[in-house]
Amino acid sequence: MKKEKAVVVFSGGQDSTTCLFWAMREFEEVEAVTFDYNQRHRTEIQCAKEIASELGIKHHVLDMSLLNQLAPNALTRNDIEVKEGEDGNLPTTFVPGRNLLFLSFAGVLASQVNAKHIITGVCETDFSGYPDCRDQFIKSLNVTLNLSMDQNFVIHTPLMWLNKAQTWKLADELDAFEYIRTKTLTCYNGIIAEGCGICPSCQLRKNGLAEYLETVGKK
Ligand SMILES: [Zn+2]
Repeated sequence: MKKEKAVVVFSGGQDSTTCLFWAMREFEEVEAVTFDYNQRHRTEIQCAKEIASELGIKHHVLDMSLLNQLAPNALTRNDIEVKEGEDGNLPTTFVPGRNLLFLSFAGVLASQVNAKHIITGVCETDFSGYPDCRDQFIKSLNVTLNLSMDQNFVIHTPLMWLNKAQTWKLADELDAFEYIRTKTLTCYNGIIAEGCGICPSCQLRKNGLAEYLETVGKK
């Protein structure tokens, strides 16, 4: 374990909770940051708060409601349907600039709390077409953050090349499988754990879980 400090970008979902456990294994001191952009399910912020508190993690919730002002979309508005991208279009859940803004604010926070490491659960494998989840973008932003603040931040993306089944495997290796399975919120309809089972996010989570359980012969 590195005797250094890390800030985890944390939403209370499967991916970022896995990252939180990963960071707790890797670094001596870990803090979490959640962005409140008027998610249509307030449960999301509540869920993140509960997990951070249970794990004894210092938790920052930052108001990012300006994002909704700039780019209302299916994650913030009830009248916009969650849909997969078709014909080369991005899904309706895409918020332009979201990870750019979130990671920049995480960088500002990291500099305030003297953390060298920033962890995000972005992933290129189960790529829904979000350009700001790509490895190239993260590497580029890492350079930009360091230049802008004269820092030596290291952005870590432990899930970048994992599929959902491999993310469940990582959770298991971190002794957090049951915790993540029962306490995290990934569902677009705001239902904790197994979720609604129908939305694109639940489908991805469910299929990955089934695949992982099959490989290890668990239930
Ligand atoms: Zn769902």
